[in-house]
Amino acid sequence: MIATTANRICQKCLEPKPLTEYRRRWSDSDVRMNVCNSCHYASERARRARKKQEAIDRIVTNYIRKWRRGKAFHADFWDCHWKIRKLNRRDQFLDLLTARIGREEALRAYRGQPSEQVRSA
Ligand SMILES: [Zn+2]
Repeated sequence: MIATTANRICQKCLEPKPLTEYRRRWSDSDVRMNVCNSCHYASERARRARKKQEAIDRIVTNYIRKWRRGKAFHADFWDCHWKIRKLNRRDQFLDLLTARIGREEALRAYRGQPSEQVRSA
């Protein structure tokens, strides 16, 4: 351990690390964060992933609502499909729909057919 480097204990992982492992709070100040860089980046990554997931959930929820009212068209399905691919390239809109409303209903949406739930209601 280098004696000249001041260590600080990270408030998250509780490991002592040199001050250079802590971001400056403002670019022109010596005041540093009390959470180390790796913990900071990990929480930022988690926050971004959470935001992304919320956005995806919102797209799926809104589409289902619109479709059940008979107001979603084939173009809307593909619009949602591409929006979701943009947010997370691994997610397929059809799979997300299937998870929410089941295979039969999801396929009806995919084919641009109205929801059975509306017809029988
Ligand atoms: Zn840490």
